[in-house]
Amino acid sequence: MKKETICVHGGYNPKSGEPRVLPIVQSTTYSYKDPEYLADLFDLKQEGHMYSRISNPTISALEEKVSQLEGGVGALAVASGQSATLIAILNICKSGDHILASSNLYGGTITLLSVTLKKFGISISFIDQDSSLEELIKHVRPETKAIFAETISNPSPKVLDLEKFSLFAKEVDLPLIIDNTFPTPFLCNPFEYGANIVVHSATKYLDGHATSIGGIIVDGGNYNWDNGKFKELTEPDLSYHGIRYVKEFQERAYITKARVQLLRDLGNCLSPLNAFLINLGIETLHLRMARHSENALTLAKYLELHPKVSWVNYPKLESNESYKLAEKYLPLGASGILAFGIKGGRKAAEEFLKNIQLTGLVVHLGEVRTSVLHPATTTHRQLSDEELRLAGIGEDMIRVSVGIENIEDILEDFELALRR
Ligand SMILES: *Cc1c(COP(=O)(O)O)cnc(C)c1O
Repeated sequence: MKKETICVHGGYNPKSGEPRVLPIVQSTTYSYKDPEYLADLFDLKQEGHMYSRISNPTISALEEKVSQLEGGVGALAVASGQSATLIAILNICKSGDHILASSNLYGGTITLLSVTLKKFGISISFIDQDSSLEELIKHVRPETKAIFAETISNPSPKVLDLEKFSLFAKEVDLPLIIDNTFPTPFLCNPFEYGANIVVHSATKYLDGHATSIGGIIVDGGNYNWDNGKFKELTEPDLSYHGIRYVKEFQERAYITKARVQLLRDLGNCLSPLNAFLINLGIETLHLRMARHSENALTLAKYLELHPKVSWVNYPKLESNESYKLAEKYLPLGASGILAFGIKGGRKAAEEFLKNIQLTGLVVHLGEVRTSVLHPATTTHRQLSDEELRLAGIGEDMIRVSVGIENIEDILEDFELALRR
């Protein structure tokens, strides 16, 4: 099936007489007739559901759909994007290990890596994603276990050179984890360029309507874990009566371990209702991503010519530093996030925010409604002016999540607010 068809049908194939629409299986537990079958489930010899912390039919359908869309071998849906990143990393890192991550990351990922995981003994080095391969390689240590980056970074969009990063990862034999939240699997599939694990905040475009927090990890099944660096995947897991994930599950070793070991122990599972809503959102993902991208490019071009605007950052503008990478990795569109600078700095930005009407002032992105955020006074408020400068967040910066309304109404709302 093509991606558009997977968006609609992927992951759920009703048999005769079963519901046409994916049912919400709001049940914690499952019933069995045969104790041996249940014993086999516990031994992972048999596929099936035991308890909804670990798996559930509604959630499994969502996992299968996203895995198909990304071209992976399996997926694990969890409570949030933050949980997806946490489990993706803990699945292969323990105290004493080290991660390399691009410095262009979502704020929550930065604090997870640099504050919380650090308390658990996992250290992190941030790298400039524009560095050359030779530069990047210099940051690798014997205890480095993963490389982490975003396809399009948050809050100011910047496109990652996926091929350079996967070449880097192969050169040093480390798994490449990509946060693909902004493009979604409709606009870009990082596995095609050599990434090994993909994570999503499903809260954003996958849900797409701002109803549900959720996250998902997809396994590319394309990393050889049996290289001496990932003993937890190759040696017996004593918490699972000595199972060896690579031996038992081969290319699905990583995603199986994440589920049966970490989701079991950490318990940050998705709810069936949220899985249903996220799946419903994905049914129109292809239509929405096309419109988000088209509207964002039109708004970016309009802002670029506006006398009250000092700069615009959208990867599909020919003037943009990411333009070539966007043409290469995002041929169908660069998603709906753009940033721009308003003349007159913080004061003018605040005045603009008071005057928007259709557009919402919201701490969120990636949904049908157009919204804006002023990072300097909200999400990044705790940073000093100097820290803001280092993070590339100017006082004049406004981030826009362009929705799927009629573009003329969006343009009019911006025009009136800029004029006032
Ligand atoms: C929002 C976001 C996250 C975190 O996701 P939650 O679902 O809010 O936990 C991670 N990465 C990116 C790029 C995001 O935009």
